[in-house]
Amino acid sequence: MQVPLLDLKSQYQSIKHDVMKITGEIFESQYFIMGPHVVQLEQEIAAYCGTKHAVGVSSGTDALLISLMAAQIGQGDIVITTPYTFFATVGSIVRVGARPAFVDIDPDTFNIDPQKLEKLFHDMDAETRTHVKGIIPVHLYGQCADMDPLTETAQKYDIVVIEDAAQAIGAEYKGNRAGSIGDLGCFSFFPSKNLGAFGDGGIVTTNSDHLHARLAILRSHGSKPKYYHKIIGGNFRLDALQAAIVSIKLKHLDAWTLARQENAARYNTLFQDAGLGEWVVLPAVTEDRHIYNQYVIRLKQKRDQLRQFLNEEGIGSEIYYPLPLHLQECFADLGYQQGDFPVAEQAALQTLALPVYPELTSDQQNYVVSKIKAFFQRGD
Ligand SMILES: *Cc1c(COP(=O)(O)O)cnc(C)c1O
Repeated sequence: MQVPLLDLKSQYQSIKHDVMKITGEIFESQYFIMGPHVVQLEQEIAAYCGTKHAVGVSSGTDALLISLMAAQIGQGDIVITTPYTFFATVGSIVRVGARPAFVDIDPDTFNIDPQKLEKLFHDMDAETRTHVKGIIPVHLYGQCADMDPLTETAQKYDIVVIEDAAQAIGAEYKGNRAGSIGDLGCFSFFPSKNLGAFGDGGIVTTNSDHLHARLAILRSHGSKPKYYHKIIGGNFRLDALQAAIVSIKLKHLDAWTLARQENAARYNTLFQDAGLGEWVVLPAVTEDRHIYNQYVIRLKQKRDQLRQFLNEEGIGSEIYYPLPLHLQECFADLGYQQGDFPVAEQAALQTLALPVYPELTSDQQNYVVSKIKAFFQRGD
């Protein structure tokens, strides 16, 4: 049996008719940049996330970059984030000229640990503290970071909160949607995200009129009116084609999310029934709405051998992420070392994402869990 990590082809069949119709219309109009489809998607995403505004942009990475620019974070500033995330979170901080400061993660959720955040501030000298301008919590795998204590710390030190919600569209924290909790929320429409475009795309959410106005100007080279520039922006625009396709997919998102949640629950039951507790740690169960962009287990041993075995048996899996950001070669000049963030470092050695996409069948899930059981029972 083949079980890919993600199968977008079957999803495409369910929306193909609508996609062909709308893209045909856009081709006929030859109107590709911004326009009514982008405006419509912005209104729909703002409503979906419970924010006042949304600004469509060229990618999730650019959503982070333009958010930092909108918040006027740059040279000499410090931005706090997690070392256990996709590269773009940290890359965008460095690209605006700021310096990342890492805080280790919670071992159960893999999200930034609010107690260690408070400790970072506590241990920081007063001069350094004045340079801290923002924090980027990441809602990893589709589960929100613990935002209440984080927001409290951010308010205490008067810093901007930029949610990296690239993996978490529709996720909730105590009833509030990802992207509506901080000052800015960053989303990605990369095809493997729960709401993916047919190419690159992203969006930024905010409740602030001021930040919304800055985002809208920065997105088109900082120009307002056209060809007059008070600030320096870039080309961060979202294509009409991508916006129209994402709008179509948004109508299906809640059904797809429900299917992911059901798949996650089925894995939990299958793993418990298989009695694999000695080897496998299941994802932390939460009251909040988890959208399962990934279903990630922790292997207490032999993660890489298991992955190899699953690959041979036709089962796709992935390691998010194999090397924490503080140990990446390109950030060596930040001066971090092995051992600085032990929880993230251990996660990098133990996590494995299994297929959880909406169209996955229960037969495929039975097969995945039975193969994992077979691997550990053969015991070599
Ligand atoms: C995917 C992702 C991004 C970047 O999004 P792109 O659209 O690929 O640029 C940023 N942060 C996280 C946590 C992501 O998963």
